[in-house]
Amino acid sequence: MASYARTSEDFRQRDGHGVRHQLRINERIAHEYGCRVVAVYTDNGCTASKPGVARPGFDRLLGDLTRGHEADGQALDGVVCVADDRLYRRPEDLARFFAALTSRPGRVYVDQRGVRDPYSQEGLLEAVRSLEAAVTETRVRSQRVSNWHWARAVEGVPHSGPRPFGWLGDRITLHPEESTLAEQAINDRIGGKAVRAIAREWCDAGVTGTRGSRPNAQTVTQIMTAPRVCGYRANRGALLLMPETGQPVLGQWEPIVTPDRWKAVCATFSPGSLYLHRGSGTPRLTGQRASPRHLGSGFLRCGATRSDGTPCRGALCAQKGRSRKSPYVYTCGSCAHCSISGPLADEALERILFSEAPPGLRLPESVRRRWQSGEAGLDEKRRNIASIITCCVVRPGVKGNHAWDYSRVEPLWRLPDHSPSTAAIG
Ligand SMILES: [Zn+2]
Repeated sequence: MASYARTSEDFRQRDGHGVRHQLRINERIAHEYGCRVVAVYTDNGCTASKPGVARPGFDRLLGDLTRGHEADGQALDGVVCVADDRLYRRPEDLARFFAALTSRPGRVYVDQRGVRDPYSQEGLLEAVRSLEAAVTETRVRSQRVSNWHWARAVEGVPHSGPRPFGWLGDRITLHPEESTLAEQAINDRIGGKAVRAIAREWCDAGVTGTRGSRPNAQTVTQIMTAPRVCGYRANRGALLLMPETGQPVLGQWEPIVTPDRWKAVCATFSPGSLYLHRGSGTPRLTGQRASPRHLGSGFLRCGATRSDGTPCRGALCAQKGRSRKSPYVYTCGSCAHCSISGPLADEALERILFSEAPPGLRLPESVRRRWQSGEAGLDEKRRNIASIITCCVVRPGVKGNHAWDYSRVEPLWRLPDHSPSTAAIG
């Protein structure tokens, strides 16, 4: 009999204590049902809920079951495990496990509840019931985590992460010099001043970002248009609203300007450069709510280098193209040195989503089917993109080279924990 044990990644002790404990119970169960453990398979600190996460012990178990014997040649006549959810929490794994287990006749599956016949309909149904319970539990657990983040955000607790420009380390109290600069910049901008000029003034005055970098037009724009300047709390790139009133959630920190001033300064920018626009398909707050008509709008950043050696990172905006192959192109609005065929970039995004996403960020098969069958509309597709990448950096093309080079579009993956980003100069 094969004995399998697994602890999940969030298990407190990763020292194998949990695994050893399970193996001991397996021994006891096997003994109670007149079986003997001849091989042990363990996965310590491995989740079974996420697709693409390797479980070497599980894979070895399936290999040995299919082959009929363990490494030393002893026949395997069944599997013992404390509970089904150690073995599988996803339908794919259940199917693989059952196929391997029943690849030879006469095997049993044993757990704390007794011996099960994996060849019978009842045995399979019971496994499916366990799977359903596991899937529900996984869903409830991730819901619980996002509820926790949401509850904190609604309380107006500041973002974690780097200190935002304008506030002290407590993220509540205004930084005297920085907040004055930010307020002045907002007033200047509303009065018609170019952001580049403001950034240059800050550089000349020796102002640096909270992590020591030199201000540029983009970072200054981010600072001015971040909802936090007027006390509004954003969450995952969208303004957080109170569910009861629909009013923006107010943060606990001291604001730099009034909401009206913030709206006024946002209105001086094209939507693409606003803080709230970063890496997300969420609706704008200011100006017209023009919904983008192209898949890549808002997701593409300029990969060109400016004359001073710093990366441009301006937003690429869709424009009319000149050829039949590229009826539209995405072009950098800041430096105009980077441009990419619209269909090429959109195809590259699709490949990134479905072929290049790392484990943990892969989209479910159902999403791919909706996407590729044409069922998913533009908004839905853009939400899919926003769920796994923050943006893509587009490398400028080589002049005269018209090859269709997907690698020019390089994704920046979302962190698995979806931690909200902050607008500190970085
Ligand atoms: Zn550029």
